[in-house]
Amino acid sequence: MSLLQKRLVFMITDKNGSRHFNVTMLFKQIFLYALVGIFALIVFVISAIFVMKSEIKNIAKKHDLLAMEFKKTQKTNAFLNDEITARLDAISVVGDKVDNLEDIIGISKENEERIEESLINRIDTSAITGAQKAFIMKFIPNGYPLERYYRISALFGNRMHPILHIIHRHTGIDLSTPANTPVYATADGVIDYAATGWNGGYGNLVKISHAFGFKTYYAHLNTLAVSPGQFVKKGQIIAYSGSSGVSTGPHLHYEIRFLNNPINPLYFIRWNMKNFDIIFEKERTLKWQSLLMLINTLMLPSKEDQPPSFRKEQK
Ligand SMILES: [Zn+2]
Repeated sequence: MSLLQKRLVFMITDKNGSRHFNVTMLFKQIFLYALVGIFALIVFVISAIFVMKSEIKNIAKKHDLLAMEFKKTQKTNAFLNDEITARLDAISVVGDKVDNLEDIIGISKENEERIEESLINRIDTSAITGAQKAFIMKFIPNGYPLERYYRISALFGNRMHPILHIIHRHTGIDLSTPANTPVYATADGVIDYAATGWNGGYGNLVKISHAFGFKTYYAHLNTLAVSPGQFVKKGQIIAYSGSSGVSTGPHLHYEIRFLNNPINPLYFIRWNMKNFDIIFEKERTLKWQSLLMLINTLMLPSKEDQPPSFRKEQK
C-alpha cells in the first residue's frame, strides 16, 4: 500500500467484539456496482434504440403499403365511377331509343294510360244476365224523356249561346218538341227539385235523384206533375214541355249528371235493352266495371243479407 492511498478505517464495537471496515474497499465496491449499472443502462438504451429503429422501419413499411393500397383503391374507384357513368349514359340512350320507338309506332305514355284505362273499363257484357240488364235499365237513366220529339236542336258541349251570343258549355241536350208534350222520368228515382220560376235560366225545372250517383234535369217546362220528395218510376209523367226560362221556342233541355258533373246524355237517350252494350263503349267517363260488380252483388240471392223484419214477412 502506497502512502498516497489514504485509508480510513471504521471500527464498530458491540457485545460480540469489534469489526473493521476499510473505506477504500467500500468505494471500490460502490464504483464496481455503478459501473455494472451504467453498462447495463447503455446496453438497454442501445438495444431499445435498435428495437425502436426496427419498429419505425416496420411502421414506414406499413405506411408505404397503406399508401399503395389507397392509391389502388382510388384508381379502382375512379374506374368504377367511369363504369357507372358509362352505364348511365347507355341507359339514357336506351330510354331515348324506346321513346323514339314509341313515337314511331304511336304509343305515347298518354295513350298507354288510355289503353290501360280502357282495359279496366272493358266489360264482359256476355256475363250480364237478363235480370241484371232489367235492373240497370230501371235505375240508370236511359231512353228519351219524351214520347215524341222533332229533332235534337242542340248537343252537349261548347256552343254559341242562341240568346247570349257567347261560347258556353251546354250542359245538356235540347230536344225540340211542341209545347205541352208529356215529359217522362228516364229512370226510377226521387224528385229532388220541382219548381216554377227563373231557376238560373232553366225556367220551370224538375230534378230527379237516381241510384248510384245519377241525376236528371228537365228544364224549360210548362207545367209540373210532381212535387219534391215524391218517388217516381221510369216512364212516369213528371211534367209537360214548354219554353220557360232562357228559351227561343218550345223544347226540353234534358241533362244527366253523375256526381253532380254534367255528362253527355246522347248515348243515354239512345240506350235501350236491344243495344245494351253501346253505353259501355261510348260513355268512357264512368267506371262501369265497378258499378256492374256492385249490381251483381246486390242481386245475389242471399237470405242472410235480408233484414230480419223482411225475413219474418216472408214466412
Ligand atoms: Zn239546353
